[in-house]
Formats: sequence, C-alpha cells, structure tokens
Amino acid sequence: MSSVSPTADQEAQSPRVELRHLDTLWFQVGGTLCNLACTHCFVSCSPTNHTHEMMRLEEVLTFLDEAASLGVKEYYFTGGEPFLNPEMEAILEHTLAYGPATVLTNGLLLDRTRSRRLAGIAEAADYSLDVRVSIDGYSAESNDPIRGSGTFDRILSGVANLTAAGLNPVLTVTEVHDENSSAYGKERFFSVLRRLGIDKPRLKILPLFPIGAEAERGTAYESWQRLRSSDAPADGWDHLQCSTSRMVTDQGVWVCPILVNEPSGKMGATLADTLRPFPLAHAACWTCHVYGVSCRT
Ligand code: SF4
Ligand code: SF4
Repeated sequence: MSSVSPTADQEAQSPRVELRHLDTLWFQVGGTLCNLACTHCFVSCSPTNHTHEMMRLEEVLTFLDEAASLGVKEYYFTGGEPFLNPEMEAILEHTLAYGPATVLTNGLLLDRTRSRRLAGIAEAADYSLDVRVSIDGYSAESNDPIRGSGTFDRILSGVANLTAAGLNPVLTVTEVHDENSSAYGKERFFSVLRRLGIDKPRLKILPLFPIGAEAERGTAYESWQRLRSSDAPADGWDHLQCSTSRMVTDQGVWVCPILVNEPSGKMGATLADTLRPFPLAHAACWTCHVYGVSCRT
C-alpha cells in the first residue's frame, strides 16, 4: 500500500496526457456538500464538507463564456448534490443555450414539482438535457448500506417522478458490489427501471476509486498501481477523459472530477490557464487507464 497522493519525483517521472481539445466542461456546482455521505464517495462529500462550496450562477456564466470561446461542446454538473444549489435550475437553463448538459444527482430532491420543471427546461431548450441518478444496488438490501437507510426507495421515487414528467434518466451504478456489472446484475437494474414504466432503460456502470471515503471503507491502492510511460497504448493517452475535459469548482479549474480534493489536480484560475499537458502521477489515473473510465454519459 502507498500514499495515494503523488510525490514530486512521481510527478516528474510520470507520463503526461496532452489536452487534445477542450470538448467537455464539468462544474462542481454542488461543491462538496451533499445530503448523503455515501461510504464509497471518492470526493468524501457530506452535509458538512465545505472543501468546495456551491457555485453561484454568476461564476458559472463566466466560465460558460470562456468555454464557448474555446469550443467546448458539452457540459456536466455534479457535486456533492447539485440540487442543493438553489440556482441549479437557472444554471441549467442558461447552460442549455450553450450546449447539451447533463446533471448528476442522487435523486433524493427530485420531487414531482422539480421533475416537471426540469422537463419544462428540457422541452424549451435548443440542446438536450440528461439527468443521471446514482444508485448502488437493485434492492434496498444492497443499496442502503452504501447510500443510507431508506435511500433505495427515495431514489426510485425520484426516477419515477422524472419518468412521469417525460424524462428518461440514466441510472449510474458503481461496482461496489461485484454483481452490479455482471449480466445478471445489469438485468436486475433493467428490471427495476422497467417496473417504473421505462421502456428503454439506460444504465452506466463505473468502477470505484479507492480514494476519499472509499479508501477509509477498506480498499486502497497498492504501490504498483501507477502509470508509467511504458503503459501508454500505441495511440497515446487520448482515451483518458482529461485529454478532452476540465473541471471547474468555486476555487478554480481542476484537471478532472476525480482529483478535486488533490492540490496537485488544480491547474489554474481560468480555463486558459489549463490548456497544457497534465502528469498522470496519481494512483487514480491507473484506474482510469485500466478500466477505460469516462465520467461522461
Ligand atoms: S457519492 Fe454522490 S450522493 Fe453519495 S455522498 Fe458522494 S456526492 Fe453525495
Ligand atoms: S484521474 Fe483520470 S481523468 Fe483525472 S487526471 Fe488521472 S487519468 Fe485523467
């Protein structure tokens, strides 16, 4: 086992990913504040984590303008829980004038009224709005120990409200249970969605990152889990999402959504500051490479 943060030597020796083109911009619009405190959260979000604060609409607008000037094509919003942000719906309305948007939520704040408003925002926009709802098991028995007591039913209630309003959310599932990504597990998730009346269920499976709360849950990186130049595929590192994206928080611009708690992940105050290669020195980069991770939908 090793310290997860890279040393200066590791940074100097690690391979570098070029920014091919800035296509995708993420916003940590909910900061690190969440109405849950999931045991596997790689950002360790919780009701009391103020490492990153929520972003204001004015801050988001400044970055949307800069992003448009740089040719960004799509936008993602995450947290913490984005719908704790009182300006979240206004932020989505404004963003959808720039390009397609996806919001990642735990689903607990998706009551009927908000779901109808989101459907209205989507209907009125030129670009598409996607909602991703996180869940960690296809039953309360498998989900609730990770996300909290009673959350399975509350998440599905949010999904049902979105569906009734005419949206088709993506269910986002981690590999916190081995069977979640198996053919059997996927079919169980699809069954859950079909029972809610969703004809074309959508599912995204993500690996765990053993950092943040997940590292305290019991798993951790081993010292060999670091990328070396010899690991580079023949066509380079372009499969990594950091070759085409950046992450904005209330404190500036980070390389990606995964390293927002890493001081070494901060690249600058504006997007223009970050148009350069980034060292793949963090152990989490190994996970991205080996599992082919993309946080995009
Ligand atoms: S995994 Fe998502 S819902 Fe859970 S604590 Fe982290 S940000 Fe909140
Ligand atoms: S954690 Fe993943 S997305 Fe972030 S810099 Fe490393 S490889 Fe890129």
